This record gives sequence, structure tokens and C-alpha cells, in this order.
Amino acid sequence: METSFSPEVWQEDPVPEQYQFCERCELCAQRARMIWGEGSPNASILVILDNPGLRENQEGVSFVCGTRQALQKAAFNAGLGMQELYVTYILKCRPVRKYDKEGARNTCKKYLRHQIEQTKPAFALCLGNIAVQTFFEDSEAEVKNLRGLWHSIGDLKVLASYHPLAVRRRPNLRKYFYEDWMLLAEAYRTWKESGILPL
Ligand code: SF4
Repeated sequence: METSFSPEVWQEDPVPEQYQFCERCELCAQRARMIWGEGSPNASILVILDNPGLRENQEGVSFVCGTRQALQKAAFNAGLGMQELYVTYILKCRPVRKYDKEGARNTCKKYLRHQIEQTKPAFALCLGNIAVQTFFEDSEAEVKNLRGLWHSIGDLKVLASYHPLAVRRRPNLRKYFYEDWMLLAEAYRTWKESGILPL
């Protein structure tokens, strides 16, 4: 199964018109553009990363960055794909220099809340300590302590796992990363078949 995997540019979800020129934090001066999300906007599984990675090369041609390649591969191995997933970010702009991290995250996560209210996914997979700390609203939270267990945040059933880039850099994390994706996929299939959510 794994041998036939090949990364692909997932369909990008355009930024809603009313937010396209957001200047709520200093990242508006750093961004090349805003990224709202990619995949299926009404998917039942929301995947949350810290911020967008590179999406276009110097000629402006779209490509799949290392983070998204690792993410897509784990999803593929778990039997999930673009139809079941929507990937979005704590920050909708990609930082390129120093900035007030806490201020920007606290400001921009309002958009994430808005997305969740609009689309009402059943599951969320939060990847990396930054996304976990912001989404769980706990500055001490760490993936290594939270992963492998279901958490409830509002109406969402949430899993935490490692950032795909960390998995690329530290292959010993891959086993746990893949386990977390399998846990998610199994719970998703159970829910689709019987309506039962994990405890
Ligand atoms: S990071 Fe978020 S809050 Fe800051 S300018 Fe970009 S969209 Fe606006």
C-alpha cells in the first residue's frame, strides 16, 4: 500500500473575502499571502498545524512541502485522504522573522474557532507542541504526554501527535505518529458506521 503513495497538492480552501486583508497581528507585514486551509472544507476530521509551510517554489509553481508530504503519507497509510481531511493552521500567515508568538497565536486562533463553528467537524488531530499548547490553551502541554489518548474540547474529539517535520527529522517518532493516525482512522470509521464516538 505504502509503495503507491505519492504526495499531491491538495485543493486549497480560499480565504473568505472578509478576512483576506487581515491586519490583526504583525504577521500581516511578513506574509507572502494568507492560507486558510486545504483538503475538504466540510470534512469531519480537522488537522491542525502551527502555521503554513512553503507552498510555491521561486517560479510560483505549487509543490508539497516536507511537512505536508509526511502528513499525507501517514494519512494514506491509515486509509485517509483529502476527502476525509481538512488541514488548517493556528496562524494563517507564514512567519519569516521574529514576532510576538503568543500575541499572534492568541489573535489568529479566533479564525480557527470560527472555522470549527462553521463546519462542526467531529474529530481534530493537533500536530506539534505549538499547535497543542495553543489549541488546548495550556502552555505546559506536550505531545509526548497527551498522545495516544482521546481528549474532548468543546464538541470535538481530539488527538495530539507529533509535528510531521519533527517526524521527518527524528525517524524514531514515526512509529508513534503512524499509531496516532491509525487510532484516528479507526475511530472515524467506527463513527461513520455506528455513530459512536470515542470516550
Ligand atoms: S496571522 Fe492571523 S491574525 Fe495575524 S495577520 Fe495573519 S491572519 Fe491576521
